[in-house]
Amino acid sequence: MSHSVTPYAIRPGFAQSIARVREAFFRRDPARWPVFAQEPFASVLAFRRLNLPPAERVAHYPDGPALHAQLRALAAVPAQLSDPSASLDPLVVFAAALAKNWEIPHSVENVATMPCDPAIYGVMLGAMANANLVHPEYAEMAVELENSVVRQIATQVGWDPTLSAGIFTQGGTFCNLYGYLLGIRKNLPLAREYGLEHGLDYRIINSQGGHYSNTTNLSLLGVNLRRKSLRIRITDDNDMDMADLERQLRACFQLGCVVPTIMLTMGTTDTFAIDRVKPVRDLCAQLCAQYEVTAKPHIHVDAAVGWPLIFFLDYDFERNPLEINDDTLTGLRRNTERFRELRYADSFTVDFQKWGYVPYTSSLVMIRDQRDLAALEHDPENFSYFEKDTEGQTHLHSTIECSRSATGVFGAATALAHLGIEGHQILVANSLQTAGYFRHRLAQTPGVMCLAPSNRGPSTSFRLYDPALVADPEAEFSREYEALTTPDWQQRVTRNNDYHRKVFKQRGKGALYTNYVQGAAHTDYDEHGHYHLLPGEKAVFMNPLTRFSDIDSFIARIHG
Ligand SMILES: *Cc1c(COP(=O)(O)O)cnc(C)c1O
Repeated sequence: MSHSVTPYAIRPGFAQSIARVREAFFRRDPARWPVFAQEPFASVLAFRRLNLPPAERVAHYPDGPALHAQLRALAAVPAQLSDPSASLDPLVVFAAALAKNWEIPHSVENVATMPCDPAIYGVMLGAMANANLVHPEYAEMAVELENSVVRQIATQVGWDPTLSAGIFTQGGTFCNLYGYLLGIRKNLPLAREYGLEHGLDYRIINSQGGHYSNTTNLSLLGVNLRRKSLRIRITDDNDMDMADLERQLRACFQLGCVVPTIMLTMGTTDTFAIDRVKPVRDLCAQLCAQYEVTAKPHIHVDAAVGWPLIFFLDYDFERNPLEINDDTLTGLRRNTERFRELRYADSFTVDFQKWGYVPYTSSLVMIRDQRDLAALEHDPENFSYFEKDTEGQTHLHSTIECSRSATGVFGAATALAHLGIEGHQILVANSLQTAGYFRHRLAQTPGVMCLAPSNRGPSTSFRLYDPALVADPEAEFSREYEALTTPDWQQRVTRNNDYHRKVFKQRGKGALYTNYVQGAAHTDYDEHGHYHLLPGEKAVFMNPLTRFSDIDSFIARIHG
């Protein structure tokens, strides 16, 4: 077996595997996927393949500026029908060609990616079939397809597929909404009829490191955010501070306060922090016994981004058959151990549309015990609209939506069928190797502080300092982190932020289309338990087409 020169290099066996995956699943190759040779797909793809920077795309498209003007002005439905045999409506084709180009190798914005060819096929087929999962009468065999995807994910995470359940829903945000709701309905059953402010006092627990949907959903549910939600502190690596969780849980239980739901995150969007689940579950069991609490907190895990790590649960890390490089293998092993605990969740969020390479939207909330769905059921009287005999075979009474598209199911089912565990492993490992190489290059670059470097996910955030003023970025970041202990703190942070923002703007969309985010890092807590957010720049390496050479070009002009 050949050994790599550096721990960051791509090893030969892996290079072959990722080349094969790109070729078969990310080339839009008409020899494999014939629709891509048909109009208007062919010309839309040809235009997107030019990989033009966003600012140049309208001007470059045939009649682009005129079409753009027409599109912006269009406000009335055409009076006449139009024969589609000539071509599809040019404005629709224009919009498809110039919609965000995820296929460009420089695209590393956020947890989003180009979808794989089979998933596009699956979604097109699903759109044509037009199943509505609200009721089996409107979906027929598509219900079985949904169930089959749910069982595959259940098996992969280590659940009994015959005892668990799952619902495809509108995005990861709704999956998290289900997570909160499951806990509320199980532990405060009167809330369905009387609302949350009736009866027992309660607190809902989430993490300061969680996605914003953790908060917006609570507001949507009518939860008093200021008084009834507890946001647990986070560690320097952005995962939940277990000591703070224990303090808060004890306080709740001592006062006879119900904790319907605890929301954890495995793979935060910007820094890929991974909360542990088993210790939270054990803590709940221990404290429930101690305080004689019967309403056990429902533990929901937001794994919207992180879930594909479950494809490594059975990976042979000793033999390493994929020849994943040493740098990535170490971090992957640590993170996989954390994901081994996902099975202790009561429910979790899966976004196929992110690291699962499926078109928007394809999100699934997984529920360990299918009996939990009974807690969500509304009175059957409300559903007089539907055929009675078949109602029992569906989640009709438990879902938040009425109409529920099956296109996400078709996309996910097709991606799973064609990529398999192996394909997902290759794609995840490729992301992590690319992110690892980026971190390695950042570490060699003056003025860069890489944030939460031990998290080893596809997301990498960093702060950039003026090398003329800051010789030691780590020391500078430490000073920023120890908020307010020096009188010139704010001035210094502002100076650094201004430098980074200026350079970021000046660079524009170049070798990597990074983002500038307001909360890339946080300071330490002050004596009142408050902290400040620190902005930074981030890149998320999920794009299978991003090359090391794109990273090299980016690093070469990182300071503008
Ligand atoms: C993207 C994301 C969400 C929200 O999912 P949507 O599908 O965008 O609604 C929730 N949590 C995390 C960690 C995410 O990254």
